Amino acid sequence: MSVFIFIDHSEEQVKKASLEALSYGAALAGQLGVPAEGIFLGTVGTDLATLGKFGVKKIHQAAQEGLNHLDAQVYAKIIADTVTATGATVVVFPNNFNGKAVAPRVAARLKAGLVSGAVALPDTANGFVVKKNVFSGKAFAHVALNTPLKVISLNPNSYPVKEGQGSAEVVSLSVTAPAPKVRVVSATQATGEVPLTEAELVVSGGRGLKGPENWGIIEDLAKALGAATACSRPVADAGWRPHHEHVGQTGIAIAPNLYIAIGISGAIQHLAGVNRSKVIVVVNKDPEAPFFKAADYGIVGDAFEVVPKMTEAIKKLKGIG
Ligand SMILES: Cc1cc2nc3c(=O)[nH]c(=O)nc-3n(C[C@H](O)[C@H](O)[C@H](O)COP(=O)(O)OP(=O)(O)OC[C@H]3O[C@@H](n4cnc5c(N)ncnc54)[C@H](O)[C@@H]3O)c2cc1C
Repeated sequence: MSVFIFIDHSEEQVKKASLEALSYGAALAGQLGVPAEGIFLGTVGTDLATLGKFGVKKIHQAAQEGLNHLDAQVYAKIIADTVTATGATVVVFPNNFNGKAVAPRVAARLKAGLVSGAVALPDTANGFVVKKNVFSGKAFAHVALNTPLKVISLNPNSYPVKEGQGSAEVVSLSVTAPAPKVRVVSATQATGEVPLTEAELVVSGGRGLKGPENWGIIEDLAKALGAATACSRPVADAGWRPHHEHVGQTGIAIAPNLYIAIGISGAIQHLAGVNRSKVIVVVNKDPEAPFFKAADYGIVGDAFEVVPKMTEAIKKLKGIG
């Protein structure tokens, strides 16, 4: 018996969402009195043994370059086979892009109950009950998992990374991966900036910015903070910003530590993608803008006056010119 954690990676780096999943899986393993183990498919630029400080005792690695790009069907088969071989009883995924693709397939293969989007450790005092987000983060559901094998995917930024001491034993996983049904022909990163889904800080602009020529103030603030940039849907639809920056119900859902919304009204469809952010700051000239109801901090004012002052203040604080 063990808790098994899928370690997601990109460009040979372990993703932050995986560190959260490792910390969560290790805490759950402690709760259940069983060891925590990880699985890593592909090659990595860092020493996997160091991930032991997040609480895993053993990491199974299939170090094949062919596994560096996600193929959900291939990954699901390897993970399910390894879970069966090791006798793990709970499998934890980060509920990010890759986790969302693989976790349901693993659950189906193992005939396991699945809770996707968990936000807290399961209550194991009475059965196995997992709290998760529903209705785009507007409500919580408590879901009882009744199957012997359980699959959980953890929402990013829902559980803190807990770093302690220790190193993990890395064991080589010999796999015969099934022939992939799809092949990645090429992968091009959209830009060199911080990827939105991984970003801890996000500066986002809406139609209140009036036009693409005014995005400099958003980019300057993002640069000063080391943040990613995002936008509302009409902004992307109008071609002011690329579609990969569009957040909301029909765009990307994000949960950064800080979301700064500038000139965005706060329509429910926008909020659906950002309301899991830890801290929301709203800049809007209309004091009645709905976004203020969801904000932790608000500035009523003209973005063109307020935002450059914010950038200046941050630069001063950071001592950058
Ligand atoms: C099915 C469906 C799905 C949708 N999905 C999404 C989605 O995924 N994401 C999304 O964003 N939207 C989505 N929408 C659209 C959504 O309903 C809103 O229309 C949209 O979010 C509004 O964008 P906005 O806030 O940028 O623009 P507006 O609603 O035009 O708001 C602009 C805001 O800027 C403020 N402002 C104006 N000038 C200034 C200034 N100088 N300084 C400061 N503030 C200023 C205004 O007071 C206003 O609050 C969806 C709609 C539908 C029907």
